[in-house]
Amino acid sequence: MRNLTIHKFGGTSVGSAERLTAAAAIIAASQTPALVVTSAMSGTTDALLRAISAAADGRADDARAEVATITRRHRETLLALGGSDTSTGSRIDTLCDELTHLIEAIVALGEASPRSKDRIVSVGEKLATELLTHALQSAGRQAMPISADTFLETDARFTQASPIPHITAGRIRRALNAHLDAGLTPVVTGFIGCSAEGHTTTLGRGGSDFSATLIGAALEAADIIIWTDVPGVFTANPRIVPEALAIPQLHHREAAELSFYGAKVLHQRTIQPVSGTDARVWIKSSFEPEQTGTLVDRNQLIGSHPVKAISAVPGQAIVNVEGRGMAGVPGIAARIFGALARHQISVTLICQSSSEASICFAIPTAEVAAAETALKQELRLELAEGSIDDITILPDCGILAVVGLGMAHTTGVAARVMTALAKQGVSLIAIAQASSELNISVVIRETEIPAATRALHRAFELHRLDTGKDAGGHLDIILFGVGKIARALVENLDRHAPTIRARYGLIPRLVAVGDRSGFLLEPGGISPQNIADLLRIKAAGGPITEIEGATASSDPRDLLRAALRYRLSHPTLVDLSDAAVAADLYDLAFAEGCDVVTANKKPLATPPERYNAMRDLQRTGARILRAEATVGAGLPVIDTLEMLIATGDRIHRVDGSLSGTLAFLMERLESGQPFSEAVRDAEAGGYTEPDPVADLTGDDVVRKAIIISRIGGLSPGHIEIEQEGWVDSSLAGLPLPVLLERLKAYDKPIADRLAAARERGEVIRFVASVEPGRIRVGPQSLPLDAPLARLARTDNMIVISSERYDQRPLVVTGPGAGVQVTAMGVLSDILRIIAERG
Ligand code: ADP
Ligand code: ASP
Ligand code: MG
Repeated sequence: MRNLTIHKFGGTSVGSAERLTAAAAIIAASQTPALVVTSAMSGTTDALLRAISAAADGRADDARAEVATITRRHRETLLALGGSDTSTGSRIDTLCDELTHLIEAIVALGEASPRSKDRIVSVGEKLATELLTHALQSAGRQAMPISADTFLETDARFTQASPIPHITAGRIRRALNAHLDAGLTPVVTGFIGCSAEGHTTTLGRGGSDFSATLIGAALEAADIIIWTDVPGVFTANPRIVPEALAIPQLHHREAAELSFYGAKVLHQRTIQPVSGTDARVWIKSSFEPEQTGTLVDRNQLIGSHPVKAISAVPGQAIVNVEGRGMAGVPGIAARIFGALARHQISVTLICQSSSEASICFAIPTAEVAAAETALKQELRLELAEGSIDDITILPDCGILAVVGLGMAHTTGVAARVMTALAKQGVSLIAIAQASSELNISVVIRETEIPAATRALHRAFELHRLDTGKDAGGHLDIILFGVGKIARALVENLDRHAPTIRARYGLIPRLVAVGDRSGFLLEPGGISPQNIADLLRIKAAGGPITEIEGATASSDPRDLLRAALRYRLSHPTLVDLSDAAVAADLYDLAFAEGCDVVTANKKPLATPPERYNAMRDLQRTGARILRAEATVGAGLPVIDTLEMLIATGDRIHRVDGSLSGTLAFLMERLESGQPFSEAVRDAEAGGYTEPDPVADLTGDDVVRKAIIISRIGGLSPGHIEIEQEGWVDSSLAGLPLPVLLERLKAYDKPIADRLAAARERGEVIRFVASVEPGRIRVGPQSLPLDAPLARLARTDNMIVISSERYDQRPLVVTGPGAGVQVTAMGVLSDILRIIAERG
């Protein structure tokens, strides 16, 4: 490799005096020796082709008008560059005169051969080299224009010429090395070459990219920069898919495949000359040169996704050669493709057909007539004797190619392609997977290309940024809310990672963590050091924003938005906050393809319309919502309800003691402690919400009851709520000492109520009763032998009566509060998702 950079400028990058100056500035600023390849000014090749058609069709005035416009545009551009009175000016005049003569010749002949066409369109590139050379000289570089039809030898297939192996490279070196050695910057015409006889040829539309790599490879240039109007090769044509993103890196083969299958940003054969070499090809925007763009090299980097991009080729026809007599007859395929090759018809794709009795392939629409003739000729015997029934041609088709080297190691890519297209209502005409396993191509109707491209782009999540790390085998967690439970969860995840991997094949990994102040995001997995720092800061009561690299934000949706910009692996939001806004967060998660695990009751206890809207989003997005820890901490309450319903049971009612806090209070009250003191102890022992009033009013229990009612299918809509608390909510928000003082007023009435119950042979329990459409929450007097009366300590008990559990209800009981058990509830939900998604 040699310290040389080839800079190739596309039409828009040299489309005006301003753009030419910008292009010259890019080269002038570069430190390495440079060689420039340029296209014609944007629109010039099209204008030249129009002039040729007009001239050949006898519309001489139209042809002359085109030539006049081209001439004027180049003269005016040179004027704007301040170069009218230079030798460049006279060379531009000479080229324009020559153009006039050539067009007049076509007018006189009334027809244009491919050879004359190439001669004429080459003028566009020649004019551009003059202008760019001038701009470079003005920027202080010693530059000289060189026309590639003096050295870049090709075959004589005019308008579609190919370089000649073993010859072209040598001639390129002989033509250019001397200038480079002399310290000059050659400015070479792209797109054009010459036949062995010295006639000007062209490499096909968009061929300047190919010129650049041919020259780069021959000169062993280390870098080739394709300067265009987009900052890189995108995950799909950005004009069709607005959310497409620039791809940071592609392997030579990936880029070659994309350009072959229609990614117009690179000419079909651009990568060929450098494939497998150490050359680096960059695709960058001359409008935003500071952007990194796309690097194409020989490295295959592990990415977070097997598919890198989707490209499309319109203008295809599908040819089907069918016949019962074909099966098992050797050599038919070879003859078909041989015949097409002899007529220089390129086959874009060979499809997989369901029966052996047909061969199916795609060709460009323009070649249909020629192909039909060639095939009928080749297969005339078989057609006559009937072993081939028919040759059918389906026009107006297009090919979509899903490309990425990672596909070779991933199963199910073809299935995803087909599912996504089916969902979009796009019918598949044929599907082909090359043996290289780097491309799956489908043939569809041409009109369906845009919709199908967008559907596949979404299906493969190409609108998200690559994390740059292999996401295989992970479940990526976005954690919101970092308190004691989160800390316990993180420790458990860490401790159990090996077992989880062994058992389920996926490892949970924290990629983002947020609280009310902001969030920390590391899409490839938060480093252990940062996790440790984060837990330490939060334990000390600090905000997440204290950690380096965190982003401040008061809207938790920003956490999710930022995280989901990346292509995460099975993204799962874990909500361990008690934020009421979390319902909006879940909406966003479900809409964006993220599952949710929550210990937060609030979003599940919102008014019915709100709740149902959120669940609808979840269902339509086929996402998972798990909420085991919202009721009874780690106890399998939600799970049991869901299991009963899933197996066809119908829940009649659920009664329960759902609050560990209130159970603790009852135990103290029964042992004779006054209410206010019992609350004081509960608070000191860490059993209450930050404001104990939320527990004492029963609000927290009401939320749990609503969740039970909804999950248990007891009330799809409005719920009638009867709530009696130990105290009412007017006490909320008081400083603790004031609250405890005020609670003294309750000591006697509560003690009396308990004594009265005891006299009846009963006990008081704080109970929730959930019936269809109705919830009752409050202290209840229960006979001593009632299941709920026997409850001890901070245990919860949930008694489920259903069609199946009619005579003897199903009882779930055990510790219903506490950091460790709650964290285990959350972990088991995460494992459920892993089991389902893994
Ligand atoms: P130039 O004149 O610089 O050679 P082209 O017009 O030939 O530019 O190619 C750039 C254009 O290719 C972009 O403006 C874009 O519209 C189109 N394009 C199609 N597919 C892609 C893709 N996958 N990535 C980037 N650009 C694409
Ligand atoms: N000017 C030619 C074209 O428009 C070649 C190129 O732009 O690469 O096709
Ligand atoms: Mg181009």
